[in-house]
Amino acid sequence: MVKAIVGANWGDEGKGKITDMLSENSDMVIRFQGGANAGHTIINGYGKFALHSLPSGVFYPHITNIIGNGVALNIRTFTEEINALKERGVPAPDILVSERAQIVMPYHILFDAYEEERLGGNAFGSTKSGIAPFYSDKFAKIGFQVNELFDDELLKSRLLNVCTIKNTLLEHLYHKPLLDLDELYSEMIEQRELIAPYVGNTAELVHRALSEGKEILLEGQLGTLKDTDFGIYPYVTSSNTIAGYGAVGAGIPPTAIEGVIAVTKAYSSAVGGGAFVTEMFGDEAETLRRLGGDKGEYGATTGRPRRVGWFDGVATAYGCRMQGATEAVLTAVDVLGYMDEIKICVAYDLGDEVTKEFPVSSKLSRAKPVYHTLPGWKCDVRGVTDYNSFPPQLKQYVEYIEKLIGVPINMISTGPKREDIAIRDRA
Ligand code: GDP
Repeated sequence: MVKAIVGANWGDEGKGKITDMLSENSDMVIRFQGGANAGHTIINGYGKFALHSLPSGVFYPHITNIIGNGVALNIRTFTEEINALKERGVPAPDILVSERAQIVMPYHILFDAYEEERLGGNAFGSTKSGIAPFYSDKFAKIGFQVNELFDDELLKSRLLNVCTIKNTLLEHLYHKPLLDLDELYSEMIEQRELIAPYVGNTAELVHRALSEGKEILLEGQLGTLKDTDFGIYPYVTSSNTIAGYGAVGAGIPPTAIEGVIAVTKAYSSAVGGGAFVTEMFGDEAETLRRLGGDKGEYGATTGRPRRVGWFDGVATAYGCRMQGATEAVLTAVDVLGYMDEIKICVAYDLGDEVTKEFPVSSKLSRAKPVYHTLPGWKCDVRGVTDYNSFPPQLKQYVEYIEKLIGVPINMISTGPKREDIAIRDRA
């Protein structure tokens, strides 16, 4: 059976922790989109890890981890992360990279930075990991699949073509140093040696696992509101973050995905630009940012302060619906224990109408939040695992959100550690 674990919001909902936890009873964990531009924070018996490109199942020796064809593969980051695990005592993970996955080329990272520089004040707030140039090239058919590294003739001629295109832009648009074909070729040969032990036909392996009835987890990166199509375009990522894309990016039939677990956080956080309707500012924001997540709301990849805000019921209901969520996990409720009152956004006021539907970006920019206020629980619930012993105000908060998003919340995360989780017994 295939289950997808995906974000209902802007990312950083705590998917890594949930995937790590659910991995225990799985056979395979597959990353199906995105690249090393976001991180999953995992805290377990080996310590604290920020994984950028590895699937969250790498800590279990019984799991086959897969980098699917839909991923933006940065070979150097990938191998550095594997080495870092080994150095910290984690047994070498079983991991396979799709031969059809495409490579984040060294110039993709340069172009990402050059474009942000060119845009100046209008920049997107990219993590400069090369993701947008990567996906542009993939769909412009000038990208490189991993298997192409192993064909010298092909590699050389394709690199020559790319250098012609890129150098025109470098010279005339960005006014930056040009690419050197020989240098690029040598770099890709080095990367070929690094990735060679991991490359294989993952689609075939996944289909075999499906026919054997194995438990497969699809691990999403970022969340619905960063999806290229359904997110806050253009302040989105350059790949589809919704579970439906899991079928494409992992190479499995869409009908095989039976469960979609949408992870949502008890408050909102986001990085990058774009409208953020429930955003907090000033001291209110600073306090939540400092107390949020594991050690404050700062990006796992960039260390940037995240924007923070109240729980957005409009965005999250939409986020769950577009994911096709069959259940939701509410994370980080422990963070809100200091608040006297907690606001939840239940509708958007667009000026000419009040709506519960998440609008397109051109309307979203004028949305004002309509809040419902609930009492805070004013105590520390970190690490509490029994739902029945939650303070009544927290239960009320969970149940109010559940109604708002229309998806059962079966698990509530009460801290960053693997064991900080309350499973709701609905019997
Ligand atoms: P992901 O990309 O969705 O996996 O999210 P990140 O790992 O980037 O961000 C989530 C942050 O919240 C990390 O620092 C986690 O350690 C932390 N976290 C996850 N679940 C909880 C929770 O229930 N409570 C608290 N306080 N932090 C959590």
